[in-house]
Amino acid sequence: MNIEKYDEIRASLPAGVCLVAVSKFKPAEDIAALYQHGQRVFGENHAQEMKAKHEVLPQDIEWHFIGHLQTNKIKYIAPYVSLIHSIDSFDLLKEVNKHAVKNNRVIPCLLQFHIADEETKFGFTFEECEAMLNDPGFIELKNVEIHGVMGMATFTDNMEQVREEFQHLHQIFQELKNIYFAQNPDFKEISMGMSEDYPIAIEEGSTLIRIGSAIFGPRNYNV
Ligand SMILES: *Cc1c(COP(=O)(O)O)cnc(C)c1O
Repeated sequence: MNIEKYDEIRASLPAGVCLVAVSKFKPAEDIAALYQHGQRVFGENHAQEMKAKHEVLPQDIEWHFIGHLQTNKIKYIAPYVSLIHSIDSFDLLKEVNKHAVKNNRVIPCLLQFHIADEETKFGFTFEECEAMLNDPGFIELKNVEIHGVMGMATFTDNMEQVREEFQHLHQIFQELKNIYFAQNPDFKEISMGMSEDYPIAIEEGSTLIRIGSAIFGPRNYNV
């Protein structure tokens, strides 16, 4: 783990930007060490892994779910998750709402948009999202709160392209804010920026950066 890099990132963050430490594939001991150092917000992308870590780590950790969420896995995170970044369909939001009702809580969510120039990234198109927001069934979902948007840029060295994709996400945020969430102060988050591109994301208006490898080191997907 690179505590110096962590401190450097923390020190460089403007007010209003929250660092989500992405601990996926990393052991609970690494999370505990960063917790000791003051970090409270952690991001995971597998529901069962997050559940296992939640059970053994301090209860005041804020767990953010950042990966593609299958409806049959919601149960592993619904009782305690602080923010789901990756709502990518109306059906998923309805299912999250059901689990929130069961747990007698309100679950904050972000709407994930497809901004990358790649087939593999999940997310709404603007049209799909508008169809959901205009559906009469949407306002019946009382146990989810939409706090903003999330997106992942294309995996490329072309930082101008990455910047344009972040600008696009900011524009989507602003349009949704103006049209659907003008009266809703909770709609304020733009989750964008990872280890390789977070300084650009901050310049383009990010409020939540999701940093994994820069802090925890490279991930070993084979373990
Ligand atoms: C893994 C992951 C990150 C962190 O990526 P790094 O490049 O390691 O910082 C951020 N966001 C999502 C959605 C991820 O899956």
